[in-house]
This record gives sequence, structure tokens and C-alpha cells, in this order.
Amino acid sequence: MRYPFEVVRDPAAMRALAASRRADGLRVCVVPTMGALHEGHLSLLRIGRALADVLILTVFVNPIQFGPGEDLGRYPRTEARDLAAARAAGVDIAYCPEAAAMYGPDFQTRIEVTELAKPLCGASRPGHFAGVTTVVTKLFHVTLPQVAVFGQKDYQQLAIIRRLVADLDFGIDIICAPIVREADGLAMSSRNAYLDPNERAQAVSLSRGLGLAKDAFAGGQRDGAALCAIAAREIAKAPLAELEYLEIRDADSLAPVSLITGPVVMAVAARFSGARLIDNVVLTP
Ligand code: AMP
Repeated sequence: MRYPFEVVRDPAAMRALAASRRADGLRVCVVPTMGALHEGHLSLLRIGRALADVLILTVFVNPIQFGPGEDLGRYPRTEARDLAAARAAGVDIAYCPEAAAMYGPDFQTRIEVTELAKPLCGASRPGHFAGVTTVVTKLFHVTLPQVAVFGQKDYQQLAIIRRLVADLDFGIDIICAPIVREADGLAMSSRNAYLDPNERAQAVSLSRGLGLAKDAFAGGQRDGAALCAIAAREIAKAPLAELEYLEIRDADSLAPVSLITGPVVMAVAARFSGARLIDNVVLTP
């Protein structure tokens, strides 16, 4: 049976509601987001809807995963639109806590996955992934899911959350949802809204570069440096993009890989004046 759509803001109320659904024998899925929902988020909700009886969307712009000088203050907040989209996507419960309810004045705990959080985005965003794993732990503790859906778009985040769940015995299935892209290939992101028209036109260089490297890989190229050079050449055609990293790493451990013999991820991050964008492709021999 389906229950009416509910918006919950209080952590204790969320936990009580989730516990009561679990006590009814229902399977609970959570899809954590920071809101400003786009097709990428909606694809996660569709996957979650098919996996569970009770689908919980969380919308929370998590202050502790933003560094000083990052975009916390201007991150898009579109709650009314998000709730309408959630309802249309078959969400049962939208959990939208206030920051004050999540982090009281004495809050001082961090959950940290150490090694996986060091390279790639971790190198330029100190404390970011500890903020993510801490909030995801809190969201899991009140939504009580058996299954959670995360996007491949944030590949390192997904790897870190899998590690968190395994290391701390959460007993939650973590499902990876494929990257949803705009018609020209740009990975959908709430931060794409920060791009001006020139930057938007050049942002497609990231997915194009990854795509060219993927083609070369399909053609038999197994040398990581050669594949990175192919992608870098394409991205260099976008002068407004300042490349932060472009690397090939083991798909599970995120250790650097030069000669590809097993599954790897090719991951890229680039800064435009208003936005930092990431993208990736998994290459499996
Ligand atoms: P965010 O709201 O950006 O924190 O993202 C919430 C979830 O949606 C994360 O698991 C992201 O990986 C996922 N996500 C964001 N953009 C996309 C996309 N373009 N395709 C698939 N999943 C996405």
C-alpha cells in the first residue's frame, strides 16, 4: 500500500516515520541530494522507486562539505519546485531538515574515510568528503534504508560511500546510477547553472575529451598517459576551462594506473570562472 506524500523536517520525526515503515515490513530506499533537482536526480529516484516500497528523497545543502570560499551561500535552492518534482517522481517522503536541526552549536563529530578521500577532488577540497560521509551517516541513521542510490557522476563520492558502508557495517545496498547528460554530452549538474553562455559552450569539452579517450581505449589503447593526452588535447580547446586534474585510477581503490589491465575510471575536474565541474568515464578492458 502507498502512504500520502509527506515532507519531514525534524530528524526525530523522520526516524520515527522510517522505523514505523520498517516495522510494517516495507523496504526503504533513500536518495540523498542537495536539491535543485534535474534529470540526473530524477533518474536516481526512478531507480529507487523500482527497488523499494518506500522511497525517501533527502534535500539538504550540507554546510560542512563546503570549504571556505566555495559556493555554499549561492548554491541553488529551489525547494518548492523540488517537492513538486519529487511527488511526480513517486517519492513517498521528502526529508528536508534545517541546518540547525542537523548541526547544533556543539556539533563536533566527523566520519572520515581516509585513503579514498585523498586524491582527485579530495586534494583540492580538504574536509569535503568528511563532510559528505558525516552527513550521509546522519541521513542513513534517520531514514533507516535497506538500499540507497548514488550517481556515478560523483565517482569518488560513490567509492567513498561504498567503503564507509562496508567498513562500518551499515548493511545498506549502495546502487550506482549512470551519468545523465545534456544533449551535447555535458554531465548534468546543479552547478551548470553558474556557467555563462561562453562557458556553457566550452564545458562540453570535458565529456568530449573523455569520449575521445574512451574511443581510443575501445580501439585498443591501454596506456594511461596516452589516453589522458587525448582527452587533455580536447579540453585544451576550451580556454575558459582551467584543468584541475585529469587522471586514470583503479576503479575500486582509486590507486594511480599507468598500464590498464583491469577496470579504471578516467576522472576530470575543471574550473570555469563561476563553476567547478567534474565528469568521468569507467573503462573496462
Ligand atoms: P547532488 O545534489 O549534486 O549532491 O547530487 C545528489 C546525487 O545525484 C548524487 O548521488 C549525485 O551523484 C547524483 N547526480 C548528480 N548529477 C547527476 C547526473 N548528471 N547523473 C546521475 N546522477 C547524478
